[in-house]
Amino acid sequence: MLYQSTRGCAPHIDFRSATLAGLAPDGGLYLPQNWPRFSEADIADLAGCDYAETAARVLAPFVGDCLSGAELRDLTRAAYGAFSHDAVTPLVQLNERNWLLELFHGPTLAFKDVALQLLGHLFERFLTGTNTHLTIVGATSGDTGSAAINAVANRAQISIVMLHPKGRVSDVQRRQMTTVLAENVHNVAIDGSFDDAQAMVKRMFADELVTGQRTLSAVNSINWARLAAQVVYYFYAAVRLGAPQRQVAFSVPTGNFGDVFAGHVAAQVGLPIARLIVATNVNDILHRALSTGDYSASMVVPTATPSMDIQVSSNFERLLFDVGGRDGAALAAQMRGFEAARTMQLTNSQRTSAARLMTSARIDGEAMGQAMLWAWDHAGQLIDPHTAVALSAAISAARDSMLDPAIPIVTLATAHPAKFGDAVMAATGQNSALPARLGNLFDREERCTHLPGDYGAVRDFVLAATAS
Ligand SMILES: *Cc1c(COP(=O)(O)O)cnc(C)c1O
Repeated sequence: MLYQSTRGCAPHIDFRSATLAGLAPDGGLYLPQNWPRFSEADIADLAGCDYAETAARVLAPFVGDCLSGAELRDLTRAAYGAFSHDAVTPLVQLNERNWLLELFHGPTLAFKDVALQLLGHLFERFLTGTNTHLTIVGATSGDTGSAAINAVANRAQISIVMLHPKGRVSDVQRRQMTTVLAENVHNVAIDGSFDDAQAMVKRMFADELVTGQRTLSAVNSINWARLAAQVVYYFYAAVRLGAPQRQVAFSVPTGNFGDVFAGHVAAQVGLPIARLIVATNVNDILHRALSTGDYSASMVVPTATPSMDIQVSSNFERLLFDVGGRDGAALAAQMRGFEAARTMQLTNSQRTSAARLMTSARIDGEAMGQAMLWAWDHAGQLIDPHTAVALSAAISAARDSMLDPAIPIVTLATAHPAKFGDAVMAATGQNSALPARLGNLFDREERCTHLPGDYGAVRDFVLAATAS
């Protein structure tokens, strides 16, 4: 299995190299050259498998011969053994039609642990025996940062520098990052938005002053291995609900488009997904793009769902490439146009191909609150605001009879409600306690560097803080 860049000008590389690299040298994102195929029999065979075994089987064709089957199994067992629920990603039924897929039973209480716990083990496995030291530079709107830090803290051949927009992540989210005092962990609060932070990270990957001295790697969902790890829970959930015999729909709270793109991958490789609902908050560039073809960035509006407060969704490029005929040169020109003007039109073929699988919805704060209350009143479930955005979209989709009523709709529950306890309290009047395993988060010492929203300052910090 080889990986190609969405911009067509980078050498094709294997899974190991794609995992360590993150972004491709031509500025594109890696995708498999061809989609592998899971037959109905392959999918039916997953019925008896636990999560770690499902992960090993679903990931095997993507890993190719970079790891043996036994090595891959060891890594998935180690990664998913750290989860607090035996099912790793349990399904919870809300009503006849609607289900939650709880993806927040990892160490930092958000779905990003599912991918990053595995990525930490993959990094370590691929670095062992080399003299490479990896410098991970990332930007986080909240949950990626803590999950990434937790996955690589104290790993000898890795340093991590994590940027977050100062004052725009919740106290729990910040403390989950800044209270990790491991020597290889460096938190930076920058003035500006998540998009500003992410633009700096992208710029650093193209900056020869940095790349000449450090081996950079990404943990944002531009990293292919992360997306691959997220394909697994679509299989795990669909099989439990009757796949391959029965189709399943998923509603996904979407920000950087990584999670829902993993659903697209699952469908491409053979999982019978009837529909993917791309649920956005009022920062609705993806909804506008998918419903009208207009992909135009505007200003980010802060909401109760900070992990979706994004205007530029990195992984959307992967979708445009895959549904637009996989023409790297054309896509590179389209993306360059967007980067210059902050606006672009999808081609007709991109729009119609995307619409075969995806529907989008824009959910405002009021509808989000109503969905939280509905889940509590109808099913006794407290859900976090991100999950509520997707649940609101799922309930509307069921009501609009867009889908055959026999098709179950799975809402991806991306964060534990206690991570956003104030919003849960405001919508439901209920207090959601942090699980005991988070311990004394609010008593622990924090360590964080504050920098201005200035690329040069961030670059100097990265070079000073990390080893080559
Ligand atoms: C990251 C995140 C999202 C958005 O996922 P993307 O892959 O960026 O689309 C949604 N909800 C929560 C809680 C998150 O942490």
